Amino acid sequence: MRLWQLVVLAAFASAPARATARPTPTLDDLAVTIAPGAEETMDGGYRGAIHLVPQLPVRRYKQHLVWVTKAWVDIDTFFTGLDLPDPAPYRWRGIAMKFVRSVGKRTPSAWASSWTINYNVEGSLMTSAAGVRETLFHELFHLNDEQHGDWSGKTLATDYAAIVKKCGTKPACLAPYAPNDTKVRASGTYYAFQPNNGSGVHEYAAELAVRYWKEQREVTETHKLSHPAFKCGPPENARAWRALVGEFFGGHDAVPAC
Ligand SMILES: [Zn+2]
Repeated sequence: MRLWQLVVLAAFASAPARATARPTPTLDDLAVTIAPGAEETMDGGYRGAIHLVPQLPVRRYKQHLVWVTKAWVDIDTFFTGLDLPDPAPYRWRGIAMKFVRSVGKRTPSAWASSWTINYNVEGSLMTSAAGVRETLFHELFHLNDEQHGDWSGKTLATDYAAIVKKCGTKPACLAPYAPNDTKVRASGTYYAFQPNNGSGVHEYAAELAVRYWKEQREVTETHKLSHPAFKCGPPENARAWRALVGEFFGGHDAVPAC
């Protein structure tokens, strides 16, 4: 065991415990690993070039480990309760996490591939437990989408292209189609429809997965939705929703029919 691993373990051991019906799993239980990322200069698309350096979630960044741990426990609780078919069409355990710090910029907050999530401790979305949890859920979807043979690129691309053709980046036009409320500060448009951001349909799909997760939890907890259901919007929404739920979430949808 290396020194940084001991430091991480010590920080984790001091994280506050939480009273739940089942014993709270640890990152070890969920097979989530923590390691420093690589130093690199990333081509961040619309964000420009970004210098990243390795930065473990320790000392002044130790709060990130608390948020990350809570996020994975919540995500595990959600999927454990979803009663997915066996073998599960969705993986949420056994994820490798690599931690970095961006120098002079606050993006990207995270990115993911090959069952690895890269986490930027200076990321603009990583400033609260809720922000970290939502971002990890979004990244986790990218990993599963990739594992399902670029499912979103094959399944959602036609509808996505039609929406972009119709609306461009205009927020008012995109609003009915936007699965989540995350917007890009520089452009003012929805993250799901931000140009020059890799393959936009991947972002749309990850935001759709976040919307699914938000609506399932809200309906389960309060038996109603505070916003109109996504699937009850334009026909593109209903198609995307049905396809997502069938491919990844065992067809489970607690949101009542429109
Ligand atoms: Zn993404």
